[in-house]
This record gives sequence, C-alpha cells and structure tokens, in this order.
Amino acid sequence: MARTKIEKIETIRLKSYPNVIWVRLHSNDGNIGLGETFLWAEAVESHIHTTVAPYLLGKDCRQRDLHWKNLYGYLGFRSTGAEVRALSAIDIALTDLYAKQIGQPVYDLLGGKARDAIRIYNTCAGYTYIRSAEGQKTSNWGLGKEESLGPYEDLDAFLNRADELAQSLLSEGITAMKIWPFDFAAERSLGNDITAEELKTAIKPFEKIRKAVGDKIDIMVECHSLWTLPAAIKISRALEDYNPYWIEDPIKADSLENLAEFRRNSNIPVCASETLAGRTGFRDLLDQRAADFIMPDIGWAGGLTESKKIASMAEAYSLPVAPHDCTGPVVWMASVHLSLNAVNAVIQECVRAHYTGWYTDVAAPMPIIENGEVTAPDVPGLGIELVPDIQKRPDAVVRISD
Ligand SMILES: [Mg+2]
Repeated sequence: MARTKIEKIETIRLKSYPNVIWVRLHSNDGNIGLGETFLWAEAVESHIHTTVAPYLLGKDCRQRDLHWKNLYGYLGFRSTGAEVRALSAIDIALTDLYAKQIGQPVYDLLGGKARDAIRIYNTCAGYTYIRSAEGQKTSNWGLGKEESLGPYEDLDAFLNRADELAQSLLSEGITAMKIWPFDFAAERSLGNDITAEELKTAIKPFEKIRKAVGDKIDIMVECHSLWTLPAAIKISRALEDYNPYWIEDPIKADSLENLAEFRRNSNIPVCASETLAGRTGFRDLLDQRAADFIMPDIGWAGGLTESKKIASMAEAYSLPVAPHDCTGPVVWMASVHLSLNAVNAVIQECVRAHYTGWYTDVAAPMPIIENGEVTAPDVPGLGIELVPDIQKRPDAVVRISD
C-alpha cells in the first residue's frame, strides 16, 4: 500500500451543541477520518489548529503510535485537559482513516471481534442533558425545558417515576440502568455532607425500582466525582440493601489513594473513571486497586489506540472495562468497536434520549441496538459519518489547516 499523507485538518462545531467538536483528517488519497471529543470545544479547536496541525500536516497516515507519542505533549499530559481531548479526537480520526484505507472495520483493526454484540445499560439522561457549556451541574440537566419533552426524558423519570422507567427499559430488552439522584445534595453541601432527609429522598428511586421489578434490572449509581470521602462512604453504605451493580466516581479521581480508601470501605463495586487519561493515569488506578470496573472515555482518555492499551492493562489486572458514553455519536460508535474487540469488555454505556435524539441530528448511522445489546456495522472504518452539509449550517464554526 502506498504511503499517504495528511493534507488537511478540518474542525467543525455547532453553536447549538457547544460542547462537541469534530475533526476530519483528509489524506491525499481522498479518504477522510472522523474524530470527536466533548466539553469546552473551543479550547480543543484552538489547540488543534495552533499546535497539532503544524506537526501532523504532511505526516504519514499510518504512523499512529508515533503521532500519539509526539502529540502527548510537554504539558497537559496524563489527564483529560484540552490537549489530551484534542489528541483523543485526532487519534480516533487517524484510526477511522486507516481502517478506511485498508477497507476493514475498526474492530478488526483492534484485534477482531471477541463477541458479535455487547450488553448495554441505559444512562438515564434526558434529551438536553449537559447541552450548555456550563458543564456537569444540575442546572444543565435540561429539567423542565420544552425541548426536553419526549418519551425518553429519562432524567425526570428516574427522579420521579423510577419504577415506570425500569419497566419501560425492560420492555425494550434493556436490563441495566444508571441514575444519579445524589447530586442535588452534593451541590448544596459542596460534597461534604448529606442529611438524613436528603439521603431518604435520593434512595427513593432505588426502592421504587426494586419494588416494581425486583432484581430484573441492574442499577449503576453515578456520583460525578462530587463527594468527599466520609459522605461518599455514607452513601455507599445506605445503598447496600439495593445491591447496585457499581458505584461510579464516588470521589474525584485526582488522588487514587483516596479512591482506594473509598473502595476498602465500600461493599459496592467501584467504577472509575471517565475523568482519567492515558496509560499512566490508569496504571496508577490499577496499581492502587482503586476500582473494580475500568471506564475510559475514548474521547477523553487519549483516543481509540490508547483506550485499547488501557483495556489490555486492565486485563492484566483481571479487571473488566466498560467504555463511557454520554458525550457524542462518534465516540459512542468508537466505544462500541472497542467493546466488541476487548476480551474484557463487560457492558457498554448508551443513552436512549441521545441516540434517538440529538445524535441523529448530527451523524448517521447509529450503532445497532437489538434485545439490549449493541453492535457496529460491518463496513470499513468506524461506520459513522456526520450528516451531509453539516459544515454549511448557519451555526457551524469551521476551521481548516492545510
Ligand atoms: Mg460517569
């Protein structure tokens, strides 16, 4: 195969979805690789055009490990800052590009399928969850907004009708769900304390689910890294009777020793963390025995090649991986490819309010969901593209380096 070069780097973001940014890498053989990352897109865009482009333009498309090494950077490494989010989007695009050039699906490039489809769980977000750039706050959950109305406003549902929500998911074959009813108390107390009354209110959805469907559904508890250690332990103990599948990011993963201390005090398995990046970030998580489920976000952790390496490291520690998705359709599709390939993948996150909602406004086709499992199409590359002429929309911000 002839060597091909990157000849154009295009970034696209839409003001109507201010957190998401796409990268398209154009090679001189006419192929285009697509990547994506999420949160604070403008900083990522700036890094790509000022720092990544001068390095990557003219480079051989195939040398993905070398490009990763060179773009890992002098600053901003080991975590999910703008530089690593940019690198993640570039790495996903390089992988998509090379898979298209050799005419194979990405899962085959990663090492082939370990399974034809993987079990999903539904993250019970709503249609406009984290739509604005204010980040992970209850005011950004889209509650009460007119554009949030629809059959899958699952965030309002888990807060108020968790029993009906569990039944609705089971009726679609989905046998696991993730909810986060503790965040209001965390915001009030800066994560320092939860009152008996707040705890009682937050536990209600778990009671309703178990009463309505028994153990037919697994429940994941999301804590968004909001708590201090004693408060997180208090929550974990209060939840034990409801047998959650995991408790996710109970405290901030900036000290993995602290997270290991949490795990030693929790009888619920710990999932961490979409907020970590790179082999070194995850190596410390594994060495500290701080988690039971390893959750990289492919758009934040360093891309597809890095997430594959993280999954392999977790395998060496006899731990399962569960790739994150609540961010965008391209990262979701990339995650499905990794989940099909990684022998230690256990379950794939999905958001039905997103994959039937805003994801379909920007990209197609979606990963294929059937009977509570998801798979990727058998086509070259990731098998997902932005919808035609998205770059011509009135709210599009397009930048090109060539
Ligand atoms: Mg999470």
